[in-house]
Amino acid sequence: MGAVQVRDGFVELYGSAPEGVWSAPGRVNLIGEHTDYNDGFVMPFALPHTAIAAVSRRTDGVLRLHSADVEGDAGGVVELRLDDLAPESDRNWTAYPAGVVWALREAGHPVTGADVHLSSTVPSGAGLSSSAALEVVVALALNDLFELGLQRWQLARLCQRAENVYVGAPTGIMDQTASACCEEGHALFLDTRDLSQKQIPFDLAAEGMRLLVVDTRVKHAHSDGEYGKRRAGCERGAALLGVDALRDVPYAELDAALARLGDDEEAVRLVRHVVTEDERVEKVVALLEAGETRAIGPVLIAGHASLRDDFRISCPELDLVVDTALASGALGARMTGGGFGGSAIVLAEAADVDTITKAVEEAFASGGHTAPRVFEAVPAAGARRLS
Ligand code: ADP
Ligand code: MG
Repeated sequence: MGAVQVRDGFVELYGSAPEGVWSAPGRVNLIGEHTDYNDGFVMPFALPHTAIAAVSRRTDGVLRLHSADVEGDAGGVVELRLDDLAPESDRNWTAYPAGVVWALREAGHPVTGADVHLSSTVPSGAGLSSSAALEVVVALALNDLFELGLQRWQLARLCQRAENVYVGAPTGIMDQTASACCEEGHALFLDTRDLSQKQIPFDLAAEGMRLLVVDTRVKHAHSDGEYGKRRAGCERGAALLGVDALRDVPYAELDAALARLGDDEEAVRLVRHVVTEDERVEKVVALLEAGETRAIGPVLIAGHASLRDDFRISCPELDLVVDTALASGALGARMTGGGFGGSAIVLAEAADVDTITKAVEEAFASGGHTAPRVFEAVPAAGARRLS
């Protein structure tokens, strides 16, 4: 659905034109997985898939929310009183936008109500951050309409707070920052400790390559619990090593750190993943800046092995994408996002894309899996006002 349809939908629902229309993208992470809650490095880029929201202010303490994409019991216009907004009080989709309003108000920003109508082309639950797109599009709209003067990174922080506290999902800062701060044609090198960032030109087409996203369309039921366990395990590893976060373990001192963990096998695996993954992000940045784009392939492959063997968050479907793509000539491939389903990325020569896509589809069919959704990802713009 485009901006015009979302605007028209708003008029139909609420009986007047919206004050504006905004968009915020989903993202894929090129490299740097499960590093964001360890104060480490990530490197996402924005997808052309976006959440689009038409929004008007209200002054009566009421928030009305509607998604064109939700039908059934959770559909229709949901009307909430701002004074009633409370963490973990809402298990529906409305928790994401309502959480943003709650976080803004809790931080002292004078948001007095709003009417929101939105629609999103970001696949939901595919590890491509449909939730962050929803949060960021609402945050940016309210920032503009109420003239809050918040910077992009501040909006990302508030959206993360909405998701952590209001929705109750213990996610890191990557998704919201990617949606708020990415730029077209670039990947975002982000230090999640201080949110310092660098836009790294990432134009694969100019070099005859493509990046495919393969959405496996599976989400294994235990994924949320396992995320929490990995997070707690990383915190335990940091405590055992006497550092604030695993980011503080230098790659050069990894062997010594692992030796200190002794036979604590779980801590060894988690620490090794996070420390080597931070190193891989820095390596990819260096390679891209040196114009050696094809050389990032092996780094992506090593990242997948680390997530599969050390962090243990891959699954048969994700491994099947990676193994099949590599066997069909891909330059690199790895799972991306939280794990246990969701999506993988594949770096390939443009000429090999059709062969690889077909091979992955055939492997899924003969393995008895649901057909995956495969699309090319081109680094797109971050959140912005459309009209
Ligand atoms: P991801 O962010 O990886 O897509 P999440 O589980 O974090 O997965 O977020 C998905 C949730 O976001 C959905 O269950 C739904 O509540 C909400 N959501 C995503 N897209 C929409 C949409 N277009 N309309 C309403 N809610 C949406
Ligand atoms: Mg999400």
